[in-house]
Amino acid sequence: MMMVPCLWCGPRDAGEFRQAGEVVPRPDPAQATPEQWRAYLYLRANRKGWVTETWYHRMGCRRYVTLVRNTETHEFRPAEPEPEAAEPEAAEPEAAEPGARP
Ligand SMILES: [Zn+2]
Repeated sequence: MMMVPCLWCGPRDAGEFRQAGEVVPRPDPAQATPEQWRAYLYLRANRKGWVTETWYHRMGCRRYVTLVRNTETHEFRPAEPEPEAAEPEAAEPEAAEPGARP
């Protein structure tokens, strides 16, 4: 039995999940060539060892979870957060107070 660690539900049986596949960076739609789209949609490395994958907890919280799995031992570890998600949003400049001098 393979246990998948859902970030919201905890470790659950792999039968509750659907493996959505290896995480592949999406090409820029405005500049991608047909070959880049084909590679994004269909080609996977199918590596041996640690692979970043997306799993869908279809019989639980119904959320997508990004995990790193060892394809030899089926060990899991949490994926690193994406750089965009980890960085806080830039603060908006404060509006000048009424009556304040520059
Ligand atoms: Zn879940």
